[in-house]
Amino acid sequence: MTDGDPAETRLRLTILGGYLGSGKTTWLRHQLHVGGFGPRVHVIVNEAAEVPVDDALLQGAEGITLLAGGCCCCEGRAGLIAALRELCDARSRIPADQPRLRHVVLETSGLADPGAIVAAIQGDPVLINHILLAETVVAVDALHALAQLRTEPLGRRQIAAADRLVLTKADAADPAALAALRATLAVLNPHATVSASSLGEEVPLLPLPPDAQPVHLPPLGPEDERGPIRPTQLAIPLDLDWSAFTLWLSALLHARGDDLVRVKGVVRTPAGRLLLQTVRKVVQSPEILPEQSDGRHDDVIVFIGRGYRPEDLGRSLRRFLGVV
Ligand SMILES: [Zn+2]
Repeated sequence: MTDGDPAETRLRLTILGGYLGSGKTTWLRHQLHVGGFGPRVHVIVNEAAEVPVDDALLQGAEGITLLAGGCCCCEGRAGLIAALRELCDARSRIPADQPRLRHVVLETSGLADPGAIVAAIQGDPVLINHILLAETVVAVDALHALAQLRTEPLGRRQIAAADRLVLTKADAADPAALAALRATLAVLNPHATVSASSLGEEVPLLPLPPDAQPVHLPPLGPEDERGPIRPTQLAIPLDLDWSAFTLWLSALLHARGDDLVRVKGVVRTPAGRLLLQTVRKVVQSPEILPEQSDGRHDDVIVFIGRGYRPEDLGRSLRRFLGVV
């Protein structure tokens, strides 16, 4: 989790996703217990059905909101937007130099697509200015995920939306099955970081054996018949014309947004190092990153998607920038 620029005043939001029974709550409880989100955290729990919230969750959180009016990526979306606006409102009434709410963690229902939640927040004219999407963490059940991924498009969408994948129950998994799962996750989402946990506590993850093979995931309906999701890395010229680049990216997302699952990278601009991210057709407002102490350049953007040839992306950008 990057801490970003000290001048960053937006309320940070972590979206916690994962399939039903993937161990989200256990992981969250432990993170709150050890202060993993820093001080002044509010938790929003979305349950697709009305279930009493575990009181133990409250330890380490400043407040808790239960959203039980349906899954907040779809029918419960308005409730989520209202709850977040309320938190932003209450926070903006406190002067910035006073201790005020710093972080919100949204525990989604197991049926939620985190990408749809990100799009809903970015599409809200109020929230887009007050919330910084810090991270999407997706819990992956090390024992059952492979079976789910074979049959569940939702599980695949959850994986694809993650910045960080946490393999839960990792210590109980057979090493060969765990290696196959990790290789499969790397195909579904090559850019996410992967860690492992047991009862919420981080456990070490051995390097992935070089011979680990992803399992074959059968296509599941029209959205999966357009070929596999693949990463494409694009080096960004150091003297990039930033406004031309954002124009190109907007045009690309407009034309190919359904194929581009995710765009993420760091670009050097006159304003500093910007972390650039998109989910679906939405470009998030860029986050300013601190300068790297070793002066290393990291001007690379990763495109994750399907239905286009990797070389076409670079050609299109160069043509747009006039550097064919
Ligand atoms: Zn939903």
